[in-house]
Amino acid sequence: KIDEDSAPAAKMSFSVSSDSMQFMTLCETLEAIENTTKRLVINDILTNFFIKLINESQKDLLPSVYLSLNQIAPTFEGIELGIGETVLVKAVSAVTGRSISAIRNDVKELGDLGKVAQSSKSSQKMMYTPKSLSIHTVFKTFRDIALITGKDSVTKKVDKIRSLLVACQGCEVKYLIRILEGKLRIGLAERSILTSLGTAFIKAKNPKASPEEIDEGVETLKSVFNEIPSYDQIIPALFDYGVNKLSERCHMTPGIPLKPMLAHPTKSLTEVLDRFEGKPFTCEYKYDGERAQVHRLADGSIKIFSRNSEDMTDKYPDIMEHIPEIITDGAQSFVIDAEVVAFDRLKNSILPFQVLSTRKRKDVNTANIQVQVSLYAFDLLFLNGKSLLTTTFRERRDLLHQNFRVVEGKFAFAKYMDAQTTEDIQYFLDDSVKENCEGLMVKTLVEESSYEPSKRSRNWLKVKKDYVSGIGDSVDLVVIGAYHGKGKRVGNYGGFLLACYDDQNEEYQTICKIGTGFSDSDLGEHTTFLNNHIIPGPKSYYSYADNAKPDVWFDAVQVWEIKAADLSISPVYRAGVGLVDSSKGISLRFPRFIRIRNDKSPENATTSSQIANLYQMQAVINNNSKNDDDLE
Ligand code: ATP
Repeated sequence: KIDEDSAPAAKMSFSVSSDSMQFMTLCETLEAIENTTKRLVINDILTNFFIKLINESQKDLLPSVYLSLNQIAPTFEGIELGIGETVLVKAVSAVTGRSISAIRNDVKELGDLGKVAQSSKSSQKMMYTPKSLSIHTVFKTFRDIALITGKDSVTKKVDKIRSLLVACQGCEVKYLIRILEGKLRIGLAERSILTSLGTAFIKAKNPKASPEEIDEGVETLKSVFNEIPSYDQIIPALFDYGVNKLSERCHMTPGIPLKPMLAHPTKSLTEVLDRFEGKPFTCEYKYDGERAQVHRLADGSIKIFSRNSEDMTDKYPDIMEHIPEIITDGAQSFVIDAEVVAFDRLKNSILPFQVLSTRKRKDVNTANIQVQVSLYAFDLLFLNGKSLLTTTFRERRDLLHQNFRVVEGKFAFAKYMDAQTTEDIQYFLDDSVKENCEGLMVKTLVEESSYEPSKRSRNWLKVKKDYVSGIGDSVDLVVIGAYHGKGKRVGNYGGFLLACYDDQNEEYQTICKIGTGFSDSDLGEHTTFLNNHIIPGPKSYYSYADNAKPDVWFDAVQVWEIKAADLSISPVYRAGVGLVDSSKGISLRFPRFIRIRNDKSPENATTSSQIANLYQMQAVINNNSKNDDDLE
């Protein structure tokens, strides 16, 4: 059991037993989770598993958390498995003696190489029972596999996978293959992991803890995780200090990207003024590029992270070259929140997002760069060893301006105006659009102006240039199904089923069918891509109505940005069911495809509660305009 009051001297007590728990125990947990759709049951299953690890095999907790999330390291370390199907089919064939074509045929039918591997292996007679696999062995081998590069790397990977497969039994085969493929997808998100982890640590210390104590512990863990989203740091600290003292021990650290703060959409400028009435606020240009968190570590090295916490340092060698020019002596270590935009150095002007999206993503060489970029900084989150998250935005902005230098075409501060009237804001909005920006971000300056990692906060409002038409903002939805094309679309999909993400219940809820906004080549590309993600039927965490089933179902892997005319209550779609109407969902009317959002994972899609908010916002506005009409 853990001791909340243990002093740092007790630090090395990380592992009680040298034996690692069986991989089967983890797989049975994953299977139990996969077999239920009930969130509370899932949390209980996971909590009990974590308590077992805390009490019996502490060193297996960190690997188990990663494996449950289909990861082997924090996202920013970029160590990924994602072994191609061809390699895995080869390994399954070698171990089971079945032909590659027979395995492929089964995969076509079942849509899941994991299941095919499990049934192929179970029908195989074994000469002897292999030694059971431990969580430690599997995790270590996975990391070794991910790190193999260079000559003969495929053969070396297949050998390692074979050695694991030979030792696998029962459902271990299925989960081993799925994790290797990067397709675990049992509907388990970070939220469940954090809830269960917090609950497990509280209960392991005090099995009789009250629901309030548990909630408090879970909240502490979630807020620490927002500042320092790394299980590598947090899990050892949980063992050493317990949940309640975690925030004293784990702090924001340059080198570990924070989950970015997000904004609420607005549909009118009067809404902005109503929201911030009496409070000082500021308007900034909303640059249309790619979010970038720039970190300078204590050792002076620089790292750039994406909105999704991926390491983008190698993608922007040009920014890396510019950084020394923009830092003053006052900025030893820091974290800046900024937007990278495409920039025309000759005309000295910002270029639209479409230009940035043509820039190469990998293996970028400074000499070959075609699309130049400039960095627009809008927040300072950490400076010289100190977190600034709870400092007022006015102070953070002052510190940002004092400690960094503008270098034309390379680095600038987000343009701002501390406007007060609708007219001023409207002019500033028009200017932002003329300068190729998306609109404005309106932010509180003093009261309620702390930086809230990962939160879609009402202290940041976004006003987009086309806020007067459509639903005020585009939405980002996940493609979960498709309908076969007819007429000139035969051979491609002609329409797609989209879903938003319910982050409370961790499920995807259908919201509309879409067939507009695609060029013919778009449709071809979507068809080719999505054909690699067909599944035989809907996942247990898809919520849909029987009268809106697609011809083909997909794994939730891709996010699309969509615009729509408005939202309506629908008996056919499930988005936000229970939030606005007790039994009906919300659907988008006249949806139009805008672009693929590669910077968002499916769990970052627009949430059901955001959809419900957009619906309510629209209802308020419709009512207001009706009242205006009445007055006339
Ligand atoms: P979208 O970018 O489509 O509006 P999103 O969900 O990615 O949606 P939002 O919270 O809606 O993000 O909008 C904030 C985004 O706007 C930030 O992620 C950032 O990339 C970008 N941005 C541009 N300029 C600013 C600024 N001045 N302040 C904050 N964010 C800005």
